[in-house]
Amino acid sequence: MSTYLLTWNPRVWPKEQFEIYYQKYTQGKILKWSCGTTKKILVGDNIFLLKQGKGNKGLIGSGVVTAAPYYAPHYQEEKRKEGKKSLYVDVKFDYLSNNQFKTPISRDELNAPEFISNIWDSQGSGKTIPANIADGLFDFWNSRIERNEQDFSGPDEAESSKLKEGGKKVITVNAYERNTKARRLCIEHWKYNCGVCNFHFEKTYGQLGKNYIHVHHLKPLSEINEEYDIDPVKDLRPVCPNCHAMLHRKQPALSIEELKEIYTIYNK
Ligand SMILES: [Zn+2]
Ligand SMILES: [Zn+2]
Repeated sequence: MSTYLLTWNPRVWPKEQFEIYYQKYTQGKILKWSCGTTKKILVGDNIFLLKQGKGNKGLIGSGVVTAAPYYAPHYQEEKRKEGKKSLYVDVKFDYLSNNQFKTPISRDELNAPEFISNIWDSQGSGKTIPANIADGLFDFWNSRIERNEQDFSGPDEAESSKLKEGGKKVITVNAYERNTKARRLCIEHWKYNCGVCNFHFEKTYGQLGKNYIHVHHLKPLSEINEEYDIDPVKDLRPVCPNCHAMLHRKQPALSIEELKEIYTIYNK
């Protein structure tokens, strides 16, 4: 699988057009993007979108190619009127930043030694991002964009304290499972495999699943007092969302070992 750089220059393709595209993205639609003259792009290849020109420059989107390069009427109106065509790929963006916001990775940050390459200043779309750069770039990108690390309406509502305030139900989620630093330390030790079924998101979903996992807090909140200091390795365990939900099907939650036993019975 290769990674390609698609580009957008607001001087050439106006912001208003981008706004329309952005709306389509928020509706989950597939977008078609010019890939310059590059015909070798394959379905399943990854792309980054680089915003060029004046103002905020940098990477603003990532996604996966769903249709190999094809010709369609040119993206610039004047050229379209002359009957000219452009080469496009279809892209399912998994992240696209609206022009109003900052770029998740700025052009300046791409000057870091590990990302140095002449592709960042090339005008044409569809350049290959070398594999040795792409790998680190995905990690950096994932750390910058706000992916929903854990669904906030997830299973831990069951475990959390529910308060009623003026008839309105207020749900306090299990803060230990949301604590980013504790999460990081837990995952550094236990890695990204599910502690129950061994599921690994990147192995199943590619780059989209990279660094995705839920983190389960082993101690019931009711047993925790004010002096409690979390031990990220002992008290937290990475689990996939399915197993996480199953752990919380009982109250108090099942232990990892108990669920593993059940899992093993049905998955020999
Ligand atoms: Zn699992
Ligand atoms: Zn949990």
